[in-house]
Amino acid sequence: MLLQGKKALIFGIANEKSIAWAIARAFHEQGAELAVTYATETLEKRVRPLAESVQAAAVLPCNVTSDDDIRHVFTELAKVWDGVDIIIHSVAFANKEELKGTIVGTSREGFATAMDISVYSFLGIMNQALPMMQGRAASALTLSYYGAVKVFPNYNVMGVAKAALEASVRYLAEAVGPDGIRINAISAGPIRTLAASGVNGFSQILHNVEERAPLRRTITQEDVARSAVYLCSDLASGVTGEIHYVDGGFNVTGL
Ligand code: NAD
Repeated sequence: MLLQGKKALIFGIANEKSIAWAIARAFHEQGAELAVTYATETLEKRVRPLAESVQAAAVLPCNVTSDDDIRHVFTELAKVWDGVDIIIHSVAFANKEELKGTIVGTSREGFATAMDISVYSFLGIMNQALPMMQGRAASALTLSYYGAVKVFPNYNVMGVAKAALEASVRYLAEAVGPDGIRINAISAGPIRTLAASGVNGFSQILHNVEERAPLRRTITQEDVARSAVYLCSDLASGVTGEIHYVDGGFNVTGL
């Protein structure tokens, strides 16, 4: 019961394959109380039953491109919770056209969309969340990928967005550290999810990990969720600004 008594707000559940859903389940098993958001009405049909199965205290709409939506989440949450201990930001998006070919073809609009949804949203959410996180040994966790620091075919503008996201983790950690609030990221290895299906040639990326990662396997949503439990629990009380790899060790290989 590493998260007993903690209240966790989770952004990024789309379906039962979402990394955020594995994190929600693991948090529930460890005694956390949950609130979850969903991006669209279509997704609500999938997310609500999942949320109910872990007795979520609130299930709220939030398209992260809307400041009003983000504000609304915290206004509603304040009606049921007196504070928030954990924020999970497991949200990213780029148009399909940006995730094939090379980065040279990136459109101005596609760049802005990827940065807005995948990077700014973390800052926008934290800005609204902070008043509810004060005085609680709270923490936030976002999800990144190795494409932030190395070049992967077709990942293109998402690599740039993840690099900006990882920099945001460091800047946020410095900004809120004096209040005792911790900010970290997990850099997850490739996993078949809805978001991953948008990346051209994703099967090849999975295959490379199976062949070359020290653990000789791809990782699962549950692998990520277990590390998320650690990073958001008091076991990680001294850890902030960190990009923690959960990738079967792939990033240490040189071949
Ligand atoms: P997923 O598709 O299940 O999750 C992505 C989430 O982003 C969805 O819930 C979707 O609704 C949400 N989202 C997209 N646009 C949104 C918007 N405008 N407003 C609100 N929410 C929006 O896929 P996932 O793989 O679980 O992705 C979660 C995170 O993990 C992402 O940041 C992704 O980049 C990261 N990640 C994934 C992998 C992988 O291989 N699957 C690897 C490393 C990092």
